[in-house]
Amino acid sequence: MFVQQIALIPFDPQDEEAGRATPVGNEAGDIEKVAAAIQKQVSRDFAPIWEVSATVDVFPSLSDKPLGYWPILIVNRDIPGAAGVHQDEHGQPYAVVEVGPSWSLTASHEALEMLADPFGSRLVPARFPERAKELIGEDHGWVEFLAETCDPPESAEFAYSVDGILVSDFYTPHYFDSSKSSARYSFGGHIEEPRQVLQGGYLSWHNPVNDEWYQLRYFDNKEHVEELGKLNRNGQSWRSVIDAATTDLNGVPHLSKLSHLPERTPKLKDAIARKAAVQAASKRRATVLREQILAQADR
Ligand SMILES: [Zn+2]
Repeated sequence: MFVQQIALIPFDPQDEEAGRATPVGNEAGDIEKVAAAIQKQVSRDFAPIWEVSATVDVFPSLSDKPLGYWPILIVNRDIPGAAGVHQDEHGQPYAVVEVGPSWSLTASHEALEMLADPFGSRLVPARFPERAKELIGEDHGWVEFLAETCDPPESAEFAYSVDGILVSDFYTPHYFDSSKSSARYSFGGHIEEPRQVLQGGYLSWHNPVNDEWYQLRYFDNKEHVEELGKLNRNGQSWRSVIDAATTDLNGVPHLSKLSHLPERTPKLKDAIARKAAVQAASKRRATVLREQILAQADR
């Protein structure tokens, strides 16, 4: 089988050019722990449902990354328009994630979506969403959804933590079923019917009849269908085009928002408390093991 490999890399264009490693700032300081948490999430939660697995590793700089790894670049400074998943000049996927208190949620979101659809352009045909029908009073029939596993449940409200690191919820392939059954629609179980969008999330689709794009958005407690119109891909992936078109009601790109959640956000607060507990336990185990090794050496 082909091994899928994802690399988390601290990145600053100037450091990369000067050939020095980018210092990992405070907020990105947990990069190894975030990689370990996403690796555990992929192997334990995502792989059995999506039947795709991956290795998740950290490299000190882009130049240190072996070929074949899809990079998720962790940036400390704002690089306008860079956040999200794109393709390099050889058509290979890479992602840029802004550092913030909740950047692990964005990194997990991007990693899982890259694994379900590495090239960000997979369209899944299915029935028009029930809720969209209610909102606009029309039924567009059979449309094509962009396979973005984390968008409908992307809010921190539905995230969970792995060893104290906040990671994203994701939908399952049943999300595109024709009708409701007892199937599991999202890992966390919050999505209760096919093509439902949860508070804080969204869903994008293309109508092949009029060649226009639409989004069912549920931002800031308001649900509506946004008409994106005809979109031009210009050699980019649909994921990249759609990410750039997705902002909240104040025009803030949704991916920046995910990385910069206020620390009082309940799930983030909870993850931070868990991380401290994990850290305290790890430290104690390290002390005991260190003493044991020294005691053996004394004998
Ligand atoms: Zn997404």
